[in-house]
Amino acid sequence: MAPVIKPARRVKHVDYELSFDDLENPGCGYGFPCNSKGKIGILEWLKLHPLGRKNLRMVRHDPKRYPARLECRKWTETIPAVIECVACGSPVELIDQWASSCPKCGTEYNGCGQRLAPRSQWEFEGDM
Ligand SMILES: [Zn+2]
Repeated sequence: MAPVIKPARRVKHVDYELSFDDLENPGCGYGFPCNSKGKIGILEWLKLHPLGRKNLRMVRHDPKRYPARLECRKWTETIPAVIECVACGSPVELIDQWASSCPKCGTEYNGCGQRLAPRSQWEFEGDM
């Protein structure tokens, strides 16, 4: 197995969104990224598409139709491991459980960092 430069790790994220349901059209509404207190700061405002800014002004102008609610979303992502290619020494990010290629020499590794045979030696065993 190739030497591990960085092991895979799980990273937790928490995102907040200010949501506005459209009470006149059930199931419809708008959502905007915000901080944990429901404030949309200048940086979030600047990142919004002009149409998003227009929609935000619209929903804030009519709070009876578009009541605001703060939503919290927690999610986790896996940052793939990085190994050292046994053929050339370059770092290889194991982005795929099936096969990840060394960007420099093309040597392939499975998701555990085990070197795979060249694809020309792979055989298809399924139905065509
Ligand atoms: Zn390599």
